[in-house]
Parts: sequence; C-alpha cells; structure tokens
Amino acid sequence: MFQKDTIAAIATGMTNAGIGIIRVSGAESIQIVDSIFHAKQAGKTLVDLPGYSALFGNICDGDCVLDEAICLVMRAPNSYTTEDVVEIQCHGGIVMLRRILELVIRSGARAAEPGEFTKRAFLGGRIDITQAESVMDMIHAKNELAARSSATQLQGKLSEKIKALRAMILNHIAYIESALDDPENYSLEGYSEELKLQVEETINQVKALLSTAEEGKMIKEGIRTVILGKPNAGKSSLLNQLLGEERAIVTEVAGTTRDTLEEDVVIQGIPLKIIDTAGIHDTVDIVEKIGVDKAKNSMEEADLILYVVDGARPLDDDDMQIMSLLKDRKVITIINKIDMEQVVDKEWITSKLHTSVVEISAKTGDGVQDLYECLKNLFFHGKLTMNDEVYITNLRHKQGLMETIESLQRVLDSIEQQMPEDFLTIDLMAAYEQLGYILGESLGDDLANEIFSKFCMGK
Ligand code: GDP
Repeated sequence: MFQKDTIAAIATGMTNAGIGIIRVSGAESIQIVDSIFHAKQAGKTLVDLPGYSALFGNICDGDCVLDEAICLVMRAPNSYTTEDVVEIQCHGGIVMLRRILELVIRSGARAAEPGEFTKRAFLGGRIDITQAESVMDMIHAKNELAARSSATQLQGKLSEKIKALRAMILNHIAYIESALDDPENYSLEGYSEELKLQVEETINQVKALLSTAEEGKMIKEGIRTVILGKPNAGKSSLLNQLLGEERAIVTEVAGTTRDTLEEDVVIQGIPLKIIDTAGIHDTVDIVEKIGVDKAKNSMEEADLILYVVDGARPLDDDDMQIMSLLKDRKVITIINKIDMEQVVDKEWITSKLHTSVVEISAKTGDGVQDLYECLKNLFFHGKLTMNDEVYITNLRHKQGLMETIESLQRVLDSIEQQMPEDFLTIDLMAAYEQLGYILGESLGDDLANEIFSKFCMGK
C-alpha cells in the first residue's frame, strides 16, 4: 500500500506572493532537487545535508538560472509525510513556481494528487485519519473557533478519547474469550452484571461526545441564523449592522427584500451564517410568495431566529403569524427603531414569547452590543473559551459514534435476555470496529481516497 515514488506540488497559494514553496516528498526527493540546485557555498550539496537544515542557492534548468531559492531538507521519518522531504522556498510568482515544479517533475518526481502528502503521513503511521481530517478542517476553517477545534483534533484529543473507549471494550472481549477458552482460571460467574455497568458507562461517554456534534457543526459552519420580521421592520438594516457594511438592499417600499441572501460573519468570536429572507407576510404577489416560502423553509433549518419587531408600529397580523411559528425555537426578539417613538409594549412581548428581548436601533447601532451579549449567552454555554474541549465536527465521526451506541445497546439487550457470553462478544466487537473506523482502521481504499481527494493541492 505504501507508495515509494516521489511526489511534488506547489504548497503555497496560487497567487503572487513574496515567497512560494514547492514541496517534494519521497525516497528520491533529496537527489532530485539536488540535481537542479546549485548551492552558493562551494562544495555544499543537499545530499550531504543533515535533516532540518537548509542551503541557499540557485535553481537551474541546465545552464539557465530560474530563481534563487532556499532548500530545506527534512529526513525520514522526521517530516510531515514521514519520508525524505525537500521544501524549495523561492519567489512567490505563480509562473516561476510552475516552471520550477515542471523542472522537478522532469527530473524524476510525479505531480502529487490533492491531499497526497497528508495521505502519506497517514499511511506512514504518523497521524490517524481524524488528525488528517483535522488538517483539512484547519485549512478550511472559517473562524477562529473552528481553527481551534481542528487544532485540538490534530493534537489527537479525539483519538485519545476514542482509543480509551476501545481499550475498555477490548478488555471485555478478551476476558470473555479467555473465560470461554479457559473456564478453570477465568470465571464468568456474575460477569454480565459487571459488564452491564461498564457498557452503560461507555454508552454515556459516547453520548457525551455525540452531544457536542450540534455545537461542533455550528462552530464549523456558523450558527444558521434567520432574520424574521414583517416588511419594513428593519431586517435588512439589521443585517447591514451585523455585516458592518451596506450589502443588503434597504428600501422604503414594503416587501422588497425578495431573495434569500447568505452571509458568513463572525461577531465577537461567534460564527454566524445569516440567512436573510423576505419577511413572513401574507401576500398574493407571486415573486414575494417564493421569498416567503423560502423564509419558512430556512426557518426550519435555523439554529437561531432573530425576530425583528418594528417598535414604532403597532403589532399586526403579520407579527402574530410569526410569533406563532417561534415556539420551541432559539429566538432573540429584537425591538427595532428605538430612535423613534415606541408604540409596542415590551413587557407584553416578553411575557408572550418567553425569549430574550433586546431593544436596538438598526439605523444608529444603539443597543446592538446588547444583542451580541445575548448571542454569547445563548450559545456555547455562554462561554467561548474552547480550551481542550473536543467537538464532533465531522459527519463521518458522528455516524461512527451513533453506530457504536447501537452495537453497545445490543450488548445490553443480550445481557437482559441472558444470552450466552460468546453472543455478547459479537456486538462488542462491532462497537470496537466502529470506533476503529473513526480512527481510520480498516478504512477501505475508496473511503480513504474520498477523504484525501477533498484536500487542497500541496497538502
Ligand atoms: P425590512 O423590509 O425588514 O428589510 O426593512 P429595512 O431594513 O429595509 O428597513 C425599512 C425602513 O426602515 C428603511 O427605510 C430603514 O431605513 C428604516 N429603518 C430600519 N431600521 C431603523 C431604525 O432602527 N430606526 C429608524 N428610524 N429607521 C429604521
């Protein structure tokens, strides 16, 4: 399975920048780069260089000097891929980077597939698949929380938890197997009682991990937030306040925000994916209607609803209709336009809706800080310090954990029905394998390829 050929790719962004890096990995990497590199210091070659050291010189295509570069040598197994690696650090123009990459390939390397460096780190046993996935998540992180969560996973925190759970399960399998083989020395008398307690405890631990999945998804993708309110309540103005720029069109004609807009925004560390919709409004206008249906649909999927009430106009049927949709949802009610004379009754709204209520002016920005405070209190247990907490942010992991619970539940059922012990080991083994699947054990080639193909070039 382990590939021996030498791969190369541009590891930095495909944009003109001060410096660009071409990464070369594999048994031949040092010789290949050495054959196109002339160190400025006489007599020095990359081949003789110890690991984690570098030489300055020219990259040459025959007699033609392409660029000046620093070549950094890392020797197996102390490199990202666990193989010999050379990083050519040259000037960051795309044209030059491509020419040097072509030269490296002509000299004996092969163009790397997306994610192939990380795949080699995985195949080389340096990281497990959850760590490989965290590398990709980190590259794609849209906010600081997501980056920190993937850093925790890269350190192997998730793997540690999964390994501990597996060790516990394996112990039981081993004990039962030994007792069946050697009944004289290992007794199964009263064992199922003990096993039951331990399996229940394991299920609780897996459930605790799973319970982070919802917040994990919000960390990774942002809290799906829908802004609702009758026409002209100030939804677009609020969105603009949140985005800090005039992106949505604000108009004075009721019902003109027709389409849905999605915007990612990080507000004081809280990642939001804001879906701006046409207001919920009884209307016969066909274009409007599409917008309204969309609003109702996106409401279904929303993690958070910001309900905007126009404080300067009396509540009407539209408001009543919206209020009836808000039950059992995470909602912040925003009474808008506090810079104008107020006609709505805050007390009444608060007692009717049982949501947090904040008063703002989307026009002047007054009260917007209160809204942020409210947001912070609603999510991530009111604290945004993610120290070493493990969040499940990956659907594959979530599925693996759910299947583990199912298998363990079957163990409990079998104990309940006083099934023979060898029966129990079947489902224990299944749980053990499902957890192993999260770590990438017995991961089929197809799945491994699928995971790595989602990576960027050069990683
Ligand atoms: P939407 O239909 O709910 O998206 O409402 P808009 O954001 O388009 O706002 C409708 C009108 O109300 C616009 O003329 C805004 O300038 C105005 N408006 C929005 N928020 C405020 C506010 O806090 N105070 C005042 N005075 N006017 C506002």
